[in-house]
Amino acid sequence: MSTDSPVSPIADLRQQLDKTDDDIVRLLARRLETVGLIAKAKAEKATQIRDPGREREVLARVEALANSLGISGPLTRKIFSEVIDYSVSRQVASLVDSERSHVSVAYQGQPLTYNQLAAEQYVASRGLTGHFIGLGSLTQVIEQLTSRQVDLAFLPIENTIAGSMNQVYDVLRERELHIVGEDSFKIELCLAAVADVPLPALRRIYSHPLALEQCSAFIDGLPQVQTTPFADSRDAMRAVAESKDPTLAAVGSPEAARAHGLVILHSEIGNQDEILMRYVALARAPLPVDERVSCKTSLILSTRHEKGALLRCLQILGEYGLSLTKLESRPRPNRPWEYMFFIDFEGNVVEPRVATALEALRTEALYLKVLGCYPAKATPQVAQASEIKPASEAIVVDAPPVAAPAKPAVRASKHYKLADRATRSQDTLVRVGDLLIGGDGFVVMAGPCSVESAEMIEKTAHHVRDKGAHILRGGVFKPRTGPYAFQGLGLEGLDMLAAAGKAAGMPIVTEVMSPEQVRLVAEKSDMLQIGARNMQNFALLNAVGKVDRPVLLKRGMSSTIEEWLAAAEYILAQGNGQVVLCERGIRTFESATRNTLDLSAVVVLRERTHLPIIVDPSHGTGRRAYVAPMAWAARACGAHGVAIEVHPDPDKALSDGDQSLNYPEFTSLMEGLARVRV
Ligand code: PEP
Ligand code: MN
Repeated sequence: MSTDSPVSPIADLRQQLDKTDDDIVRLLARRLETVGLIAKAKAEKATQIRDPGREREVLARVEALANSLGISGPLTRKIFSEVIDYSVSRQVASLVDSERSHVSVAYQGQPLTYNQLAAEQYVASRGLTGHFIGLGSLTQVIEQLTSRQVDLAFLPIENTIAGSMNQVYDVLRERELHIVGEDSFKIELCLAAVADVPLPALRRIYSHPLALEQCSAFIDGLPQVQTTPFADSRDAMRAVAESKDPTLAAVGSPEAARAHGLVILHSEIGNQDEILMRYVALARAPLPVDERVSCKTSLILSTRHEKGALLRCLQILGEYGLSLTKLESRPRPNRPWEYMFFIDFEGNVVEPRVATALEALRTEALYLKVLGCYPAKATPQVAQASEIKPASEAIVVDAPPVAAPAKPAVRASKHYKLADRATRSQDTLVRVGDLLIGGDGFVVMAGPCSVESAEMIEKTAHHVRDKGAHILRGGVFKPRTGPYAFQGLGLEGLDMLAAAGKAAGMPIVTEVMSPEQVRLVAEKSDMLQIGARNMQNFALLNAVGKVDRPVLLKRGMSSTIEEWLAAAEYILAQGNGQVVLCERGIRTFESATRNTLDLSAVVVLRERTHLPIIVDPSHGTGRRAYVAPMAWAARACGAHGVAIEVHPDPDKALSDGDQSLNYPEFTSLMEGLARVRV
């Protein structure tokens, strides 16, 4: 029996749903109309287009409203970030090419390859319509542009795995063309074949060399397979489809696979979770950009054969307050072992400080060419751990300001230099995922002591995220007192934690116990935790010091602050400056609590080190009832965050049940935390 008979209530409900969806789209259109009016008002004044403070306010407001209506705050935040981004693009467009409404664009490749999809996205985000022409080679694309057949050439210039596309830079160096825009585009690579064959049955994989390089780790896992380069991933898909040979497969976009009737054997096979391609739009003439739009300027520079020549060039940018977003070197053509540099910095050539800096650079460099100045789109999106908003402003407990980094009263230690506040007076901000820990932010890490199953970690991730936690914690290698206790799910558990983090949109942190685990765990975890029992495992400290991953260094249960900072120094001395300290309680004669939470360590550390410091009141007290008050106190005394153990059913937890909060208890901890402001 069909579930969709005319009398079915589902049909009715679907109609209602359709109407709601239409209303949402209409409201978005209305929002854009208002945005248009604001853009006009701004056009009359010298107001910056991007107003980060205002954007943060809007996001915090809609997130709070969503939470109060029982829908996911972070999801709402994500949707509105996209809406705001689009609105900003439209405002920028109105200040850039306002005379044009239609452009013709040449790109390299065929329809349905990323190059075309990205060109369409770029044109649409500027509120324009476009005519798109795919050509076989870069030379043909440039030829179309220089011979005035098209308005723009849209070319990939850089990839988050493979780096810069040298051919495009060569064109920019040799030709009188100008970058007038940029965009970044997510590349999704899949493996497709004529039939649903098992991977070991494959013998050959076709694709563009760049696409093959971007999924090299996946292909290396299929030792029986040979690769064949193709000019275009779409050609590769077509060749596989036409061959009808089930031992062949191709790498390319899911859109192209579907267009050729192929079966997707595996999706998202790229070496990194997210592969982004940066594109540039080239035109015959530069396009002046209004000063209110945040811009990037790109240039090519060759330095003189003198000591410190590059340094002097970079100093010039620094002196004029121009922040560098890219610096890359490549060989100078026909000059063995000489290099030129590709530089991008934030700034608009119409600003006087940029013009002066460029003049100074010209006197310093052997060769300098400005490639273009254009609205910035591809810049890292990081946010400091957001404020947790109180449900009601009226009941805010205002703690007095804490520990402004004064001159430490103690003599400098000989055990640590890099960690010393005296070496660096500014607070260090440590980036985890898209989040910055330290400074004025307050970060909440939450999750179970141990990952016990895929379901429990995913459910917990969603709960803690919806209540405002930023980072998901969970142990998979557990340092247990006795060998018969649950030792953690190991790498299998790590996959569960990583999947839960991904589903909830949260970075993850997990403990590593031995140097051999470091590389494996670093591949999947956003942050590595060194547990209390390993704080002085110097081999482990050296190992995490060698990888490019932030480290959460817990205080040893019998360690002094001095020893703790010396342990941090081991990591810094190996070259990894991304250390966050975590106070988790120390052994004292007191037996009413599992450990004695030393909150005074927070104020001492804020004085002695520039590294961020967070507090773990779960291990610090060992008793569920004491966790929330100590978390609030941690915030009041100036910690940069807390780590909290949360379990769906603490009494059944495989480790640390006594100190784990259930979901409602975590909710009330977060509500309380919102009332403490420093
Ligand atoms: C943990 O965080 O689960 C843990 C084992 O903590 P600690 O090393 O502080 O005991
Ligand atoms: Mn624990």
